[in-house]
Amino acid sequence: MTETTQKPVEAENCGQCHRCIDEFKLGETLKTPHGDLHVPLSSMRMILCPQCGNKRCPKASDHRLLCTGSNEQGQPGSRYKKVDFQTTGAEHE
Ligand SMILES: [Zn+2]
Ligand SMILES: [Zn+2]
Repeated sequence: MTETTQKPVEAENCGQCHRCIDEFKLGETLKTPHGDLHVPLSSMRMILCPQCGNKRCPKASDHRLLCTGSNEQGQPGSRYKKVDFQTTGAEHE
């Protein structure tokens, strides 16, 4: 076994993007009578880009993506591909 100082960049945890929330299971674990319930951080608060503050910025979904400074829908890399949270609620997705 040889020690290297190189750390895999892939495993970087910014602690606030959707990708890290998924990969590192960020959030809280609630104790329930039926067992532990994991509540992801994305369910507890709005996930926003740390740079521009837009939730649809690709950087809000994955901190390794570039900040576009835009809140447009359907940006490459963003999880908000289509209309989210429609008030009509008729169609899902
Ligand atoms: Zn991240
Ligand atoms: Zn941004």
